[in-house]
Amino acid sequence: MFTSVAGRTVVVTGGSKGIGKGIARVFATAGANVVLSGRDVVAAATTAQELDELGDGAVSFVLADVASAADNARLARTVAERHGGVDVVCANAGISPSAPLATMTEADIDEVLGTNVKGAILTVQAFLPALVASGRGRVILTSSITGPITGYPGWSHYGASKAAMLGFMRTAAVELARDRVTVNAVLPGSVRTEGLDELGADYLSSMEAAIPLRRLGEVDEIGHAALFLASDEASYITGQALVVDGGQILPESPAALQGS
Ligand code: NAP
Repeated sequence: MFTSVAGRTVVVTGGSKGIGKGIARVFATAGANVVLSGRDVVAAATTAQELDELGDGAVSFVLADVASAADNARLARTVAERHGGVDVVCANAGISPSAPLATMTEADIDEVLGTNVKGAILTVQAFLPALVASGRGRVILTSSITGPITGYPGWSHYGASKAAMLGFMRTAAVELARDRVTVNAVLPGSVRTEGLDELGADYLSSMEAAIPLRRLGEVDEIGHAALFLASDEASYITGQALVVDGGQILPESPAALQGS
């Protein structure tokens, strides 16, 4: 039996949609107070209202751009005002626009690295005093299999950003260990989000065929991995990357999946 996270305060950047919403839902259902962030007020407000119904904790939102140090500082101040501290920071907000290397612009690179890498670092930095004060602070980064393990055409900047998050994780884990703050990452494979559904049934079924478990991941399955890493029982795990991908990275070649 895992120790309950009820009453703990959890921040989920990019918690208004997709994987972040799944993470926020799992913590809200477990009774945590959840503050989710995003830039779009309609999505953030709708999600916060929906998730607030789930558990005994409060779910609310703050509009904040993770790429802005000032926004992250305001997010941290608001969470402190609402809940008096923070125990878990899920640095999840990210973007994945596609651009072939040959035509990728400087602006494309800045946007992806600025959101995915700089954004995660700034978020963790803004919450550092509160995480230390918690005495059991947890940071959970949403990286990806793309970059740290695999490659995909059009995503060289995105893959670089997701691998860079793991570089950040390892040193942050060492720096923060003395304050009993752990820093880990989840590496999702192909997860069913609102955006992915728009790619159409044919595309989705071709993706499913390449995954040993023969289905896409659900956003809550990433949330459950994050919940585990946030638990008291995961207190001795730090600086680690947990792949949650239905076996997607395993086949040595397409032939490995034939007949299975
Ligand atoms: P999504 O459905 O597009 O949701 C992204 C979330 O991040 C939204 O809440 C969005 O809200 C927020 N966001 C984006 N840019 C932001 C910014 N600058 N500041 C604050 N919030 C921002 O994306 P997703 O697929 O769930 O991806 C979430 C994370 O999972 C990303 O880090 C992504 O790299 C990773 N991931 C996803 C998959 C997958 O299969 N879906 C696989 C591996 C890894 P606003 O637009 O309102 O700001």
